[in-house]
Amino acid sequence: MTTSVSDARAEYQALQAQGLQLNMQRGQPSNQDFDLSNRLIGALNEHDFQMDGTDLRNYPGGIRGLPSARALAANYLDLKDENVIVWNNSSLELQGLVLMFALLHGLPGGRPWAGQPNRMIVTVPGYDRHFGLLEHLGFELLSVPMEADGPDLDAVEQLAQDPSVRGIVFVPTYSNPTGDSISAEKAARLAGLQAAAPDFTIFADDAYRAHHLRPDDHDQPVNLVALCRDAGFPNRAFVYASTSKITFAGAGLGFVGSSEDNIAWLEKNLNAQSIGPNKFEQARHVRFLEGYPGGLEGLMADHGRLIAPKFGAVDEILTRELGTEGKYASWTTPRGGYFISLNTAEPVAARVIELAGAAGISLTPAGSTFPKGQDDGRNIRLAPTRPPLDEVRRAMEGVAVCIRLATEEYRSR
Ligand code: PLP
Repeated sequence: MTTSVSDARAEYQALQAQGLQLNMQRGQPSNQDFDLSNRLIGALNEHDFQMDGTDLRNYPGGIRGLPSARALAANYLDLKDENVIVWNNSSLELQGLVLMFALLHGLPGGRPWAGQPNRMIVTVPGYDRHFGLLEHLGFELLSVPMEADGPDLDAVEQLAQDPSVRGIVFVPTYSNPTGDSISAEKAARLAGLQAAAPDFTIFADDAYRAHHLRPDDHDQPVNLVALCRDAGFPNRAFVYASTSKITFAGAGLGFVGSSEDNIAWLEKNLNAQSIGPNKFEQARHVRFLEGYPGGLEGLMADHGRLIAPKFGAVDEILTRELGTEGKYASWTTPRGGYFISLNTAEPVAARVIELAGAAGISLTPAGSTFPKGQDDGRNIRLAPTRPPLDEVRRAMEGVAVCIRLATEEYRSR
């Protein structure tokens, strides 16, 4: 392993000379992942315009989505059909809509949030689009650490004593970017947590709920809607998910699960602006997933077979190149999801990302896993799903060279 700046610099020059063009920043499925779902495109033909007694071509059908699609989403979220709405292709859009309706009209039984100070707890490192959405809507963000078994609940509990803290936004299963999942114990504690705001809400973005690398060795997703009901706060949780990382990222189904009161409230609000979601897309997904060998679980197992070797390669190469003692960096080894979170031993993440970029390896921009980019200078999000396996390997070898150089530069200042 390199120990001097000059050795590290020589290695880096050799890396630059390779003229690489690799991208490890996009949390997207690979083309092979997409290919598993190509039959979705032709899952309906010109005669298939009826489902659940509804003419898919016309308006009627309701806000909540096609019954068959709702059954699919309810099964996915471990809820009853009456506890879900299946909307259009983006769960993030649903998250934004619920927040906007809460701001404008208040949650069921609550006052509108707008016109008062609004604070929201988020976990860090976390998902930049959550931060962007919340800041866009005027929330002040309060960060708590995402730990190996979920959000730091002592910190959450303390912050929640302020009535302007409206709730928490986080990813309960295979979090973006750490890959950590909330434990059953922490989920139960969060569900029953005493908060000053009577409508303190858990906004759980369960985007990776079924995204296990291996079907027989995985984290156990929790049921926050049921836990909140059992804890005496029936309306406390909204849980979001989508098929973006199941079928097509740009043309899937987004859905939300919550209490019956919250679902009725959301239906009323959505009804003011829409006659209903895209029923053909819902019907296509139902038909396609019904026909896939092993159904949705079979499809997720096939994704796992494609993605697991990429996660394995990241860990294998980082271990080989940087060791396991944390001299240069430490990183997570998730059992699912789309990301690995790496922390450099010294505060050199921005320099690593800059060096990698100049060597043709694109990484997630520095600071993007913290609100307003205010990180401790150490966190890098690695996204191994999109590139082919051999590119993941080459990119990680290059990233290791950049980490060694940035670290040795820092230590020799
Ligand atoms: N939530 C998380 C945690 C994500 O990582 C992503 C995409 O990377 C999304 C939501 C996007 O979901 P959708 O395509 O359903 O809007």
